[in-house]
Amino acid sequence: MKKIALLGSTGSIGTQTLDIVDHHPDLYRVVALSAGSRVDELVEQANKYRPALVSLATKELADRAAPHLPPGTRVAYGEQGLIEVAASTDADIVVTAIMGSRGLPATMAAIDAGKTIALANKETLVTAGHLVMKRAKERGVSILPVDSEHSAIFQCLNGERAQTVKTITLTASGGSFRDRTRDELASVTVEQALNHPNWSMGAKITIDSATMVNKGLEVIEAKWLYDVDYDQIKVLIHPESIIHSYVEFVDNSVVAQLGLPDMRVPIQYALTYPDRQPTPTEPLDLAAIGKLHFREMDYDRYPALRLAFQCGRLGQSAPTVYNAANEIAVSRFLNGEIAFLDIERILQEVVDRHQVCAVDYIDAIDEIDRWARSVAAKV
Ligand code: NAD
Ligand code: MG
Repeated sequence: MKKIALLGSTGSIGTQTLDIVDHHPDLYRVVALSAGSRVDELVEQANKYRPALVSLATKELADRAAPHLPPGTRVAYGEQGLIEVAASTDADIVVTAIMGSRGLPATMAAIDAGKTIALANKETLVTAGHLVMKRAKERGVSILPVDSEHSAIFQCLNGERAQTVKTITLTASGGSFRDRTRDELASVTVEQALNHPNWSMGAKITIDSATMVNKGLEVIEAKWLYDVDYDQIKVLIHPESIIHSYVEFVDNSVVAQLGLPDMRVPIQYALTYPDRQPTPTEPLDLAAIGKLHFREMDYDRYPALRLAFQCGRLGQSAPTVYNAANEIAVSRFLNGEIAFLDIERILQEVVDRHQVCAVDYIDAIDEIDRWARSVAAKV
């Protein structure tokens, strides 16, 4: 029986993780849950799973939840609450399904506590990949990918020697606007941007898919998870999202992982690894699909992806700035404050204003992250 702590239990990845738990009650037990502001959903989850600890974003929300929690469930709140959910229970594995670099302190605390990390919260690796990976190595902690592309790469690399990898290709669906020209993007609405063709996901990652920032974050995530150079990481547009990513080896053999687009497969693989178990998902029928399509990535169409490669190559504080500026730009777009193409403009402006520097401590990351957010809120 594996004990699970789940950060972000009411979100897209969080609820799909609980669906996996429901299908394997003999394999998993939920011992801690955290959510942002959805009190009623968290209370419902707490009464169903009876965890030792739950956490909400603020004290006020935690006070609202407290009278409705089952006996034996303690409630915490804020950043400290997230850290407690990640590190203070007897969980074996922590699923990081919250959005944004705010997941960093809790992820570090979980690593320090020796928990296996099932990582969905890619922003954590983008903002501080060098520190997270170093700490995980020091503590002998595994970081298992939940992101579908990274789970695919992880599965392709199973049993292979790192030196035999030539390139890694991340596939990209192209997001909600893949068939529109740049001119057509000027007036797109929030509602249109939130309408992803293949995946049902949280709002922020859906917008990131439309700007291709999501793939940019994934390129940096892949660099840290698989210790490859940026020259070895390729991106290919594949509208059907059936090939989730692939690895090319030195002998020109290509190993890919395929399946219907359903996050419960990679979520469960992170939980069962190195074992496999049946999932409550539909099997792939290639004959029914008939054709798969591929297009070369167009970096002029998606300049935010080019900027991600540039920031990744610059390293140090550059990815932290890229990520934080994007988080603010996306929330401004979702609030109706700026136009869709302003997201890219803001990203470029904040990166241009930044003098890249070393970030050797979490506090330094925090400082740069706050600086980038304050600039992105104004430009
Ligand atoms: P989401 O918006 O659906 O869910 C976010 C969760 O975080 C919710 O449970 C929310 O209540 C919680 N939360 C928000 N503010 C909080 C706070 N202050 N304190 C504690 N919890 C808070 O997001 P999602 O789509 O599930 O994505 C989560 C992460 O997984 C992101 O990093 C995303 O990039 C990554 N990811 C998602 C998918 C997907 O299919 N949704 C795929 C790959 C990777
Ligand atoms: Mg992905």
